[in-house]
Amino acid sequence: MAFHPTTLLEPHTPPALTTEPHVIVRGERLTVWDREGRSYLDATSGMLCTNLGYSQPRLVRAAERQMARLPFFASFAHRTADVALALADDLARLAPLPMGRTFFANSGAEANDSAFKLAWYYHRCLGRYGRSTVISQERGYHGTTVAAGSATGLDFVHRGFGLPLPSFVTVACPDPHGPLREGLSEDRFVDRLVGRLERLIEHEGPDTVAAFIAEPILGAGGLIIPPPGYYPRVQEVLARHDILFVVDEVVTGFGRTGSMFATTEFGLAPDLITLAKGLSSAYAPISAVMVGQRVMDTIADRSPDVGAFGHGFTYSGHPVAAAVAREALAIVVEEDVPGHVRETAPTLMTALADAFGGEACVRDVRGYGFLAAVTFVTGAGGLPEGEWGARVMSEAVEHGLLVRAVGDTVIVAPPLVSTGEEIRTMVGLLEKAYRAAL
Ligand code: PLP
Repeated sequence: MAFHPTTLLEPHTPPALTTEPHVIVRGERLTVWDREGRSYLDATSGMLCTNLGYSQPRLVRAAERQMARLPFFASFAHRTADVALALADDLARLAPLPMGRTFFANSGAEANDSAFKLAWYYHRCLGRYGRSTVISQERGYHGTTVAAGSATGLDFVHRGFGLPLPSFVTVACPDPHGPLREGLSEDRFVDRLVGRLERLIEHEGPDTVAAFIAEPILGAGGLIIPPPGYYPRVQEVLARHDILFVVDEVVTGFGRTGSMFATTEFGLAPDLITLAKGLSSAYAPISAVMVGQRVMDTIADRSPDVGAFGHGFTYSGHPVAAAVAREALAIVVEEDVPGHVRETAPTLMTALADAFGGEACVRDVRGYGFLAAVTFVTGAGGLPEGEWGARVMSEAVEHGLLVRAVGDTVIVAPPLVSTGEEIRTMVGLLEKAYRAAL
């Protein structure tokens, strides 16, 4: 296929680049092939989303069938496609919170934008017009649209765009390896984090805060696994001030932590859950907001006073995407994908610990389910700070492996259908890449 290398404005890429990108043309299970015919094991699951691997025949057939039957129908003014309703039913059966209804969008960022608008709408329905502030975490990632990007606590999403918007504020990142920990015990560290949240709420004024959004495990910020005591304490604070808890399960949803939802895995009690990626195993763009019963009951009861929920997308509940998502969910349930992750995750951790645990240049190896990371530090014979991720990632490509890098952290997030043997092969290639990078 011939093309000109400078017609595509690529996401997250310097526009000054005029060289050809690395072009991928085909995928099968865990492997993708480039134009030159070289193959790569994809230990990034696309972007933490092709959970069921590439070219899953059931997903392909589901898309074909729906394409032929009803390729599109807009959900609008109380008329919608049957398959969108069916997918909402499927999600209601799986939901890890007392369920109200599900709202559909197309991307993770749109789901988060929609969750903020639902939170604002909820408070408006209760006459709390001053509740506009959204609190998120430093280094949390929620997308790059103007609102979700405002909640994202990473500078590269804000810089030059006038973000965050005024009603978005961040609170300390619950990173057990971060500077706030400073030799504190885990309990004292949690006290400190929760104290910061309480002070922020007091500073903003509790009557101005609409919602708090967080990932159960922070992914794009560098795979940060908060201490187990953190979210229960956060929830107490939120409940005390009637602040809605939005759990961003865009990455963790549908099995990645070894449970269907991290909400269950960590015993969370959110008001709203946002989902995307694994919902369709990325075979079609679709995302969702699970709206819990408390929020749904309120907005259903009170909306006649405040007017319709003025929010939605042409492609909300797109029939082909919904059909693919239904099939992806069926596979996840029938094949007990979360159970497979739970059983196989120790293989991932053991392989990484064996390969990297004793290395002087390694700060730590950590993981949960099929989300794992190695963070490198400047050590004897090692690379300077800030160079690890990019170097190991590019050596990995040379060794036929795709991994994700965030600063000096390399993230390994295999598709959820990977076998133990396949995971050992991925980690073996990563170790070779690391040695070549030294
Ligand atoms: N939330 C989380 C936790 C994510 O990791 C991402 C994307 O990586 C998003 C939201 C945004 O999703 P999208 O890129 O589909 O807008």
